[in-house]
Amino acid sequence: MKGKNLSERDKKYLWHPLTQHKTAAPPIGIVKAEGALFWDEEGNCYIDAIASWYTAMYGHGNQAISQAITEQMKELDFVMFSGFTHPPAVRLSEELMAILPENQSKIFFNDNGSTAVEAAIKIAIQYHHNIEDKRDTLIALENGFHGDTFGAMSASGLSSYNGPFEDFLLKVERIPVPSGDNIHEILSQLDLIISKNSCAAFVFEPLVQGAAGMKFHSAEGLDKLIKKCQENNILCISDEVMTGFGKTGKNFASEYLVNKPDILCLSKALTAGMFPLSITSCTKKIFDSFLSEEVSKGFFHAHTYSAHPLGCAAALAGLELLKSKEIKERRNYIEASHTSFVLSVQGHPKIKNVRSIGVILAIDLNLNTERYGNLRDELYQFFMERGILLRPLGNTIYVLPPYIITDEQLHSIYDAINQLLLSLK
Ligand SMILES: *Cc1c(COP(=O)(O)O)cnc(C)c1O
Repeated sequence: MKGKNLSERDKKYLWHPLTQHKTAAPPIGIVKAEGALFWDEEGNCYIDAIASWYTAMYGHGNQAISQAITEQMKELDFVMFSGFTHPPAVRLSEELMAILPENQSKIFFNDNGSTAVEAAIKIAIQYHHNIEDKRDTLIALENGFHGDTFGAMSASGLSSYNGPFEDFLLKVERIPVPSGDNIHEILSQLDLIISKNSCAAFVFEPLVQGAAGMKFHSAEGLDKLIKKCQENNILCISDEVMTGFGKTGKNFASEYLVNKPDILCLSKALTAGMFPLSITSCTKKIFDSFLSEEVSKGFFHAHTYSAHPLGCAAALAGLELLKSKEIKERRNYIEASHTSFVLSVQGHPKIKNVRSIGVILAIDLNLNTERYGNLRDELYQFFMERGILLRPLGNTIYVLPPYIITDEQLHSIYDAINQLLLSLK
């Protein structure tokens, strides 16, 4: 097959995620990545301005992490996690516990973000079952995104991605995102939902809803919702798959909350893009409800690759980097640069809203909605032609760069956004 390029050969057998194959452009063959850059098979270079779905925060091919994985592979490649344990899983649980909110006390391993949320929802439902308090309803924020398995889809806002499955989803009540002036209305809506249903869990992305278009909401408002839920023994599940590991300026967005969630879900930057792994952590109260002389009260849920040693080794090396002075300095630099960029474009006639928190920068464009259909693709093309990977969400452009991005690379992203603003009619 030599001579045929990747995207041509790809077409023959491959089915891509999130793709309408009838109309989508062929995928770009990527052959190399390093730091904040990757290269296609024709030698074109791109800046990874979204850290490959916010995973590769310490840069592609990070030496320390790839070395940790290699060393681990030589010692112990894999062993099942039922009936066995191993050094990287134990060490990772210790390291994570030291930085997770204080009320967290147990860690359950999964292998991606969706299954972390799925496990969280099942744990919440079984918690109530185990304490003889059957509950069948989830509460979720409107427009949330929690993944592609059925429980995770149920907790997500309805759209084309979960719409076809609507009749098969779990029972869910969706409430608006707290914005400051609507909190009293949401609280009374929540009261009504709680009085009319038996609610098992409240699932939310804390502070930033990623897939919804990097929409921010107030920690104060969310705190009030969590308080009301916890007063009614509704377990609060904080999905930090996107926000975790420093994106919002703190290690976890839950740190901005006074009322700590009962369950946390982490993945993506956990292993810095080097290995699929996720965790679901919970409080002692929840774990204890699974302890019983009755075997069936245990959590009978597992994935073959639970706590994969290579993933745990990658996560341990990632945490080391997260704590390092160098990475902290880079995060501060990106945060300050985003803040100045926001100030520099605020009030621009083509911008409806521009905001940043930590290393996340988002710009909602103010454009003719009739063009909305292909707008996203046009924006995507505009940046790719300039050697920058950005994946606009509707009319929202967001930048979430690897922490190790250079000053020059970061500023070339801002320059391209400024060029786009100039080009908009
Ligand atoms: C990406 C994401 C998920 C799903 O994770 P996968 O690894 O893609 O299954 C869940 N929740 C949030 C907030 C995410 O950003």
